[in-house]
Amino acid sequence: MPSVQPSRRPRGPSRRDPSAETARTIGFVSLGCPKALVDSERIITQLRSEGYQTVPSYAAADLVIVNTCGFIDSAVEESLDAIGEAVKENGRVIVTGCLGAKGEVIRARFPDLLSITGPQDYAGVMKAVHEAAPPVHDPFLDLLPPQGVKLTPRHYAYLKIAEGCNHKCSFCIIPSMRGKLASRPVDAVLVEAEKLVRAGVQELLVISQDTSAYGADLKYAGRTWQGQEYPTRMLDLCRGLGSLRDPAQRRPWVRLHYVYPYPHVDAVIELMAEGLVLPYLDVPFQHASPTVLKRMKRPAAAEDTLRRLAAWRAICPEITVRSTFIVGFPGETEAEFQVLLDWLDQAQLDRVGCFKYSPVEGAAANALGGPIPGALQEERLARFMEKQAGISAAKLKKKLGRTLEVLVDEHTPKGARGRSWADAPEIDGQVLIEGKLKPLVGERVWVKITGADTHDLRGVLSDEGVGNN
Ligand code: SF4
Repeated sequence: MPSVQPSRRPRGPSRRDPSAETARTIGFVSLGCPKALVDSERIITQLRSEGYQTVPSYAAADLVIVNTCGFIDSAVEESLDAIGEAVKENGRVIVTGCLGAKGEVIRARFPDLLSITGPQDYAGVMKAVHEAAPPVHDPFLDLLPPQGVKLTPRHYAYLKIAEGCNHKCSFCIIPSMRGKLASRPVDAVLVEAEKLVRAGVQELLVISQDTSAYGADLKYAGRTWQGQEYPTRMLDLCRGLGSLRDPAQRRPWVRLHYVYPYPHVDAVIELMAEGLVLPYLDVPFQHASPTVLKRMKRPAAAEDTLRRLAAWRAICPEITVRSTFIVGFPGETEAEFQVLLDWLDQAQLDRVGCFKYSPVEGAAANALGGPIPGALQEERLARFMEKQAGISAAKLKKKLGRTLEVLVDEHTPKGARGRSWADAPEIDGQVLIEGKLKPLVGERVWVKITGADTHDLRGVLSDEGVGNN
């Protein structure tokens, strides 16, 4: 059930009697990206703090909350399907999240919903819950773990530092759904991180729509944390997070996502070289052709990204850079696509995701001419992925024989699966640990690398790790 396994939905024929004087029960369906997941965690944390129970079946739920995604058309369909299923199986449904910003679309299909709210409207969701299923006081259920409730496994957690975005990328409707950049004060983020680390979290994944812009809306206001002044700024946030690191235990890992390649990011790379932050950077380049980037209206489009990458690697040679790209953007010529392939050759990125452009309702790019036919998009995607596969395989091959620290995510029939500093959960490759001895999930172990393919590494447990990574 989604309360703890967000991708699945509750099962069961009909809801229970909500007038019963037992703890109120909520079914939860969480769809969408890590930012939406953090919203779900906040709502569930609030529900638990008020004594509500989350349950894994429609039948056992007094009502169902569906946290929707509206990023691309397929996500909209998935969200509408999820709402339809909840309406059919339970009948009392609260809708929130990105698609909630388009209330009229949802209401036209499901006129009897209890409420519809947009993203991050925690108060709106809780108001609807209170009206539909007033809380029953139970001192035991009111107890809340100090780190809140996490939907990710216990050993890693997403740390959302800001919401919204000040850019206007032509393919994206997030700013219209989530609003302008709104940063959380740095002390609030650091206090949350501190609690998570104290609760045993090994890895913090810093997310927002534009991590490099963090704090700009607050004019980088200074806040006090642990007796020290920290400006609300990316570099200072990273310093604070780095100060949580216990050198003996080498934790927590701090991983940065959605970082735009502005010059001030160089100073953060120095923290990576010092070991305070993982040498890993997720930079959404999206394309390399200046003309396509201009049509995309991308931030940092004018940056010389190859020079920036070289500067980062000079500061921290171990850095892993991941990125995502869009091929087949309206008007993309063969020459522009070739610029991207050539750039990829030179950039030698470690990890790459690539998508075919698909129009999103409400996006400015829909008005651009020159749609690329589906077959040509497919062909470009295949050429792009083939090139990157060669780069990735060659990079992973260089890790053969090394001993890497690996955070164990799960057990497999042949051993376990985990990730090194170079692999973010869900989106990057993995390290497959072979052998009868299974390390614990959430444990960090040393693994001698014995095999490599295009995206994943294989290895065996080793005790020779320290100093060899
Ligand atoms: S930077 Fe661009 S793609 Fe990212 S959220 Fe903002 S507008 Fe959308």
